[in-house]
Amino acid sequence: MDKKTIKDIDVYNKRVLLRVDFNVPVKDGVITDDNRIKEELPTIKYLLDNGAKLIIMSHLGRPEGEVNLKYSLKPTAVRLGEYLQKEVKFADDCIGKEALKMSKELNSGEVLMLENLRFYAQEEENDKAFCEKLAKLADVYVNDAFGTAHRKHASTYGVAKLLPNAVGFLIEKELNMIVDTINNPKRPFVGILGGAKVSDKITIVESLLNKVDSLIVGGAMAYTFLYAMNFNVGDSKVEKEMVGEAQRLINLAQEKNVQLLLPVDHVVANNFENPTIVKNTVNPTIPNGFMGMDIGKQTIKIFKKAIKKAKTVIWNGPMGVFENKTFENGTKAVAKALAKTKATTIVGGGDSAAAVIKFGYGKKITHISTGGGASLKLFEGKVLPAVDVIENK
Ligand code: AMP
Repeated sequence: MDKKTIKDIDVYNKRVLLRVDFNVPVKDGVITDDNRIKEELPTIKYLLDNGAKLIIMSHLGRPEGEVNLKYSLKPTAVRLGEYLQKEVKFADDCIGKEALKMSKELNSGEVLMLENLRFYAQEEENDKAFCEKLAKLADVYVNDAFGTAHRKHASTYGVAKLLPNAVGFLIEKELNMIVDTINNPKRPFVGILGGAKVSDKITIVESLLNKVDSLIVGGAMAYTFLYAMNFNVGDSKVEKEMVGEAQRLINLAQEKNVQLLLPVDHVVANNFENPTIVKNTVNPTIPNGFMGMDIGKQTIKIFKKAIKKAKTVIWNGPMGVFENKTFENGTKAVAKALAKTKATTIVGGGDSAAAVIKFGYGKKITHISTGGGASLKLFEGKVLPAVDVIENK
């Protein structure tokens, strides 16, 4: 990687402003999953062991630019203190006199955590004055928030322009794993896309057609493609305005000699919320009055076979409504196939990462990304703005 990492900069006795992604789920003031804090420990420990005066900033939830203590980062500061076995000081505001005073009073090896950046609308607006206030708190800026690296916010982009900077170990790992794998895949290279929104993923389909040997499309996304091929899809979720695009991509796959694998059968139900009739179709057609909820048994076999042959697999998006046990089989089977293969396997963040972990295959995957949106941008071959802004080595 050509960007500076924390190993390339001197942090001893310097106030280091570290952007992390501590956007953890919190219920009634209690953190229900602290994986994002654990993932950040190597960077935090390295900075402290090397004598930094560490100031940590993050966002949590969507407080919409207003102070809302439901989204306070205080519980994350407490949890971090438990992992580090040291006091983590907490400033009730991410900018202002109090935060500035606390940052100046830090000694080498001490930690200060700032309150939620998104209590200010200026954070997401990348407001210049807000960036300057953040920059005042420190001598050096480090970004390790991979989950927000596709965003041009004050704390991920603007502030980097005002201070000497570097990325942390988490961003370094994500880039090394995802970018290297996609740029130098061992072949056959199989891409798997699923989930609900074709409009969100259409650009990824197109860029993957330039890279992969086979592209598997499952989940609700598949019905727009099947509809474009003139199959009846009943009441399934179809993005009608995307049908033309789907048609174009089907042709493009043919031109590029990429095998496009779509479901050949489905698990369908009569109702999304309250499915009382559930059955497996015998072909790609879905009868009226039914909607596709998961890939069917034959499809699972075909997708598994393609994964088994692959030497590299990247995956984003579930194969069905996996949150409901009745419709989890397709997603579970794909997760299991990834776990069983010796191929390099990369799972994008968000739902597919959650599914792999939920089904107990997390440890068998080469790399599970911590960022949904950011990993998709990398799948697409895009540069992340928060990485782009960091100085080169
Ligand atoms: P995305 O955010 O685009 O990755 O979509 C993830 C969501 O797609 C999950 O909540 C799934 O329940 C949903 N999903 C997957 N398959 C289907 C389907 N056949 N019908 C409706 N929703 C689906």
